[in-house]
Amino acid sequence: MNNLVKKVVIVGGGTAGWMTAAYLIKFLAKSDVSITVVESSDIGSVGVGEATIPTIREFYGALGMKDQDVMKATNATFKLGIEFQNWFKPNHSFFHPFAQYGQSVNGVNFHHYWNKMRQHGYEGELSEFSLGVMLAKNGKFTFPAKNPPSPMSVFDWALHFDAGLFAKMLKEYSLERGVTLIDDKITNVNLRENDGFIDTLELENEGVVSGELFIDCSGFQALLIEGALKTGYEDWSEWLLCDRAVAVQSESASEPLPYTISAAEGAGWRWQIPLQHRDGNGHVYSSTHMSDDEATQILLDNVKGSPISEPKSFKFTPGRRVQAWNKNCIAVGLSSGFLEPLESTSIALIELAIQKIRLFFPDQTFDKDVIAEFNDRTKMEYERVRDFVIYHYKANRRGDTDFWRHCESMDIPETLAYKNRLFEKRGHLVKSPYEIFQLPSWLAIYTGNNVQPTGYDTMVDSFGIDYLKNVFDQMRKSVADSVAQAPTHAEFLTKI
Ligand SMILES: Cc1cc2nc3c(=O)[nH]c(=O)nc-3n(C[C@H](O)[C@H](O)[C@H](O)COP(=O)(O)OP(=O)(O)OC[C@H]3O[C@@H](n4cnc5c(N)ncnc54)[C@H](O)[C@@H]3O)c2cc1C
Repeated sequence: MNNLVKKVVIVGGGTAGWMTAAYLIKFLAKSDVSITVVESSDIGSVGVGEATIPTIREFYGALGMKDQDVMKATNATFKLGIEFQNWFKPNHSFFHPFAQYGQSVNGVNFHHYWNKMRQHGYEGELSEFSLGVMLAKNGKFTFPAKNPPSPMSVFDWALHFDAGLFAKMLKEYSLERGVTLIDDKITNVNLRENDGFIDTLELENEGVVSGELFIDCSGFQALLIEGALKTGYEDWSEWLLCDRAVAVQSESASEPLPYTISAAEGAGWRWQIPLQHRDGNGHVYSSTHMSDDEATQILLDNVKGSPISEPKSFKFTPGRRVQAWNKNCIAVGLSSGFLEPLESTSIALIELAIQKIRLFFPDQTFDKDVIAEFNDRTKMEYERVRDFVIYHYKANRRGDTDFWRHCESMDIPETLAYKNRLFEKRGHLVKSPYEIFQLPSWLAIYTGNNVQPTGYDTMVDSFGIDYLKNVFDQMRKSVADSVAQAPTHAEFLTKI
C-alpha cells in the first residue's frame, strides 16, 4: 500500500528552496503530495551563486525549461569553464574547461601520448587540443555539434546567471503548478515528544504550519537541521582556510567573456562572472590572514566596471552537515554544508540532493536504511568536491604569503593523496563513486599546475615520435579550424 508522505514543507525561498519546490511539484504532482514553501521576504536570500556547471542544464531541462528561455529570463551568458589566474604562480594561468582533450588512439587516452611527447621535448600546450579551451581563450562560443564528427569536437557548457532571477523563474513555475507560498518568519520549531521529529513551525503572523517531511532550505542559518535538531557539522577548515567572502556587482566593462575568472590573491582568490547586463565580482579569503577591510579594498581595486551595489559580506565555515537527512528533515543548499564557490559546485550539490529526494522519497515509516543511503551518498558527493577544491590550493608553488605557503605544505585527505599518486606515477586518472567532476577536469588541474607524471601508459610506445607529432599537428589544426569558424561570444548571444 502507498503510505507515502503527503505533506511536504520547504523552509526557505532561496535558490535551494525554489529548485526543490519546482522539481518536487513536477515529479510528485500525481502522487497527491502537497508542497508548501515558507520564506521570509524580510530576511531575503543569500543573493549570490551566479556560476554553474553543465548539470544545471539537465536540471532545468527535466522541468521542461529550454536553454534559451532560462538564459533570457536570467540575463545569462555562456560558461565554457574557469580561467585560474596566478594560482600556481604569479603571472601564470590555466583553464579548466567542461571539455575533452585530444582524441584517444588505440583505446589509450590522449594525455598519455601527450605525456610521452613532453618527455621527448614536445612543447605544445595540452589546451591546444581542447575545443572548449580554445573557444574560451579566443572569446568565442558556439553550440557543440549534435553529432560530433570526432571526440575532438566534444565540449559542454554551463551558465553564468542572475541567481535572484533564476529563483524567481522557479518560483513562478512552482506556484503555477500548485505549490503554496507562505511569506512569514519562522519564530519557533516544535518537536514531537515521543521521537523528536519536527511537528510544527510557528510563524510570526500566520499561526502554525504542520508537515510530515520538512526540507530545510533556510541557508546558513540551518534553522531546522541544526537549530532544532542539533545534527552537528563536520568542519573542513584544516584544509580550506577561506572563511569569508565579500561580493559586489558592477557595470559590464567589456563584452562578456564566455568563462569565469578566478584570480588568486594574497589570502584567497577573486571571482569575476560576466552576465549580459552586469558583472558579479567577489573575493573569498581567510580571516586569519587578511582583514575584512583589506579584502574589500582588493576587490574594489580590481573591479573592472563601476560598482552598482554596496559590497556584501559573508561568513562561513567550510564543511558539511553530519547527516543531511535527520529524522523527518532533509537539508538542501547552504543548510547542508558549504564549500567555497571556486568550482561553482553549490548549486550542483543542490541538484544532487533534490534528485536523491525524488529517488528516496519517504513513506510514513521514515525507513532508517533509506535515510542511511541518502546520507552516505551525500557524504561522498561532498567529500569528492572537497578534495577537488583542496587540490587547487595544495598544488600552488607561489610561496609569497603565509597563506599560500601553508596551503602548499599542508597534509591533505588520503582520498586526494591516493588520486594524486596514481596520476603522478603513470598518469592514471580515476573517477570516484558519486564524484561530480569528470576525468578531463582533473587532467586540467594537474597539468595546469605543471604536474607531469614520471611515466606513461606503455601502450603508447607502439607509435614512434614522428608519427605522433604528425597526429598531434592534425588534431591541433582541427581544433584551430573549428575555433576560426565560430562567432564571438557576444555575437552568439545576440544571435540567440
Ligand atoms: C559568496 C558566495 C558565492 C557563491 N557563489 C556560488 C556560485 O558561483 N555557484 C554556486 O553554485 N553557488 C554559489 N554559492 C552558493 C549559492 O549561493 C547557494 O548554494 C544558493 O544560493 C542556495 O542558497 P540557499 O537557498 O541554501 O540559501 P539562501 O539563499 O540564504 O535562502 C535561505 C532562505 O531561507 C529563508 N529563511 C531563513 N530564515 C528564515 C526564517 N526564520 N523564517 C522564514 N524564512 C527563513 C530566507 O528568507 C531565504 O528565502 C555562493 C555562496 C556564497 C556565500
